[in-house]
Amino acid sequence: MEHPLARSEGVARWLSWGRRGTAGAAIPMSLAFEGVTQRFGEVTALEDVTLAIAPGEIVALLGQSGCGKTTLLRLAAGVERPSAGKVLLEGQDVSAPDAFIEPEKRGVGLVFQDYALFPHLNVLENVRFGLRGYDDASAQATALRAIARVGLADLAEAYPHMLSGGEQQRVALARAVAPRPGVLLMDEPFSNLDRRLRDVVRDETAALLQETGATSIIVTHDPEDAMRIADRIVLMRSGRIVQIGTSEELYRKPVSLFAARFFCDFTEINGIAERGAVETPVGRFAAPGLADGQEAVVCVRPHAIRLVPKGFCLPARVVMRRFLGEVDHLLLAVGGLEKPLVGRVSLPGSIREGEDIGIDIQSDEVLVFASGDT
Ligand code: ATP
Repeated sequence: MEHPLARSEGVARWLSWGRRGTAGAAIPMSLAFEGVTQRFGEVTALEDVTLAIAPGEIVALLGQSGCGKTTLLRLAAGVERPSAGKVLLEGQDVSAPDAFIEPEKRGVGLVFQDYALFPHLNVLENVRFGLRGYDDASAQATALRAIARVGLADLAEAYPHMLSGGEQQRVALARAVAPRPGVLLMDEPFSNLDRRLRDVVRDETAALLQETGATSIIVTHDPEDAMRIADRIVLMRSGRIVQIGTSEELYRKPVSLFAARFFCDFTEINGIAERGAVETPVGRFAAPGLADGQEAVVCVRPHAIRLVPKGFCLPARVVMRRFLGEVDHLLLAVGGLEKPLVGRVSLPGSIREGEDIGIDIQSDEVLVFASGDT
């Protein structure tokens, strides 16, 4: 069956990556950072970062602009030297001043945000460039295989300026994986892509990473990128690691309001903790660990809201309703709340804006944090 996206002009080519399983496997390496601090003059880009990545693991470094993600990647690649701490590849300190290993000797593949293709080299030559140490025939065969794997065999002779952004991304990926690096480092590899195509490219890239088996780090500021592609997510803030875990752990058990906000657009309701709970106009929610009288923020996930027959639960008025297909995006006014409650619920078609409905809030989809716990 035709993929629904394939109907849009020019999109079909995006979907035609090469056959899965043909990329060739790497020998994955372990990668670790121990107490890494990085200063640039007055700026501390990283502060005491410790992180161990197992061979073959795919890790996403997630955080807002300027939190130090790229700096950590550059330290792994060897294009920066840490101000303090160690970078270990296969347990060996590759960052020590007297035993520093240069980037080209680390067995690390790189995909930069801007793809960094050589403009005067065609696709094949760009991919072959990474294959130093191969004889001519095997470099040619290896490069062609990598190009075919990302679905660009037809464009092997094309120059970067003739390619779309997405095709350039695929060339950069082919160039990085062709030498079968033990570690693959990718800086915002999807950020320049059209939203409609991101899903396809992300999934194909994930398949390719799994196929090569390389230990991979992907830098991103987009939680969805991280959740879709990574085995573990490392959430960063101001040069420090905030939380490390699977996407489910970060989503379900965020360590702070800051971490929680990264993964969900909550309605936040202020309240005061009393006897282990916070009373709000939409219900009473457990607040374990919060002292009596402590100011709290109750975070209600949009899908925590359920529609129930009027009169049984909480009365709410539909202030806004937007049909999104599988669900409706709702703003619901509830007595006592300053701001409307944001909901993602499938409403019967007959319910209109301005109408009153009954809702219930599933307490296991509500998180409570101490105020200021960001
Ligand atoms: P972005 O998503 O915007 O790329 P990032 O999380 O990757 O951000 P970094 O690029 O690692 O963040 O930068 C972290 C901090 O270090 C920022 O404040 C940045 O301005 C600073 N920084 C990074 N490289 C240098 C440098 N070479 N000289 C001076 N400051 C730098």
